[in-house]
Amino acid sequence: GSKVAYEELDASKLTYSFTKSPLPVPEAGVTSSGNKSICTDHMLVANWNMETGWSAPEIKPYGPFTISPTASVLHYATECFEGMKAYRGYDGKLRLFRPDCNAERLLMSSVRISLPSFPPSEVEKLVKAFMAVDGPKWLPRDRPGSFIYIRPTLIGTHSQLGVAAPAEAMLFIIASYMPQMDAPPGGMRLHTSPADMVRAWAGGFGYAKVGANYGPSLLATSEAKTRGFHQILWLYGEEGLCTEAGASNFFVLWKNKETGRTELVTAPLGDKIILDGVTRRSVLQLVRERCADEIDVVERKYTIDEVLEADAEGRLVESFASGTAYFVCPISLIHHRGKDVNFPMGKKNEGGDLTLKVKNWLKDIMYGREDHPWGYVV
Ligand code: PMP
Repeated sequence: GSKVAYEELDASKLTYSFTKSPLPVPEAGVTSSGNKSICTDHMLVANWNMETGWSAPEIKPYGPFTISPTASVLHYATECFEGMKAYRGYDGKLRLFRPDCNAERLLMSSVRISLPSFPPSEVEKLVKAFMAVDGPKWLPRDRPGSFIYIRPTLIGTHSQLGVAAPAEAMLFIIASYMPQMDAPPGGMRLHTSPADMVRAWAGGFGYAKVGANYGPSLLATSEAKTRGFHQILWLYGEEGLCTEAGASNFFVLWKNKETGRTELVTAPLGDKIILDGVTRRSVLQLVRERCADEIDVVERKYTIDEVLEADAEGRLVESFASGTAYFVCPISLIHHRGKDVNFPMGKKNEGGDLTLKVKNWLKDIMYGREDHPWGYVV
């Protein structure tokens, strides 16, 4: 028989079927309905099949979809996702922040768990097309400084039990409101991970944004929350390497033990244990560009004992976590095996100088106060 051609994911084939029952936009500041996410009117869906490739992507009314109970994702965690935001600027424009980075990371994650590949530029175009439809209504013009969270997701839909690379998959993109998470009063309090739990390991998949990384982290996080902490600082290995704080990257600003110079230190990407955060990348680049004289930027392995030592020697300057959801969030405390490390939180108790500076630089780009190539106008 004649072989069907394999179709690549192609944003130019996008079709639209608009909702006939548009949903009401919630009042400013309302981010969920009871305990459910509030999503926008539409979702974007494209299906993949190993033989025929990608279907034409479709924007259609938001709603539940049907998958077989034997679908690969439900058994073998063949799922990966992205988290990004669209921002309503102070100039009235809608922007995405470095959407190319998210599209590339989605591809990296997908390949790690045997889901299909695609040109990341097509996913980027689809996110833009989706936001061109739902962005204007769901980020009203009279709410400058607001954002909506976008969740591109890939799942294995192949409905055959058996541990095998799925021959069918689905890409979907939804958008949802989400609370501002970067400002717990008095800063974020971290508890180090329990001695018998590890988030990611060398040779594992901690560097990929796969669902399988998140479910298993919830047990330690819930326990820390009941004890008054916000997130887990995930340590790695016998030596207790600092890796990530919850679902965000972790930074310490301290004085170097030998030179006394101010250093911004964060875990390196090399061991593939941490996620290559888009915010992390942006923070590192901005601090390198804009603080070169005052601050050395260092990506290296460092331990919780080094942080305790710096604390004992009065060398800690400040600490923050970075991520799309957490944005740039000051950290006020780390609890590690009976000891508390306190970080200076600045004059107004809202975060140290660098934390606030970085936060404002990024905000200016996201909300259009600074014209910058990272801010992509939809
Ligand atoms: N680490 C983990 C484990 C995460 O889930 C996230 C959120 N995507 C981050 C770091 C921060 O990444 P980003 O800045 O791209 O949101």
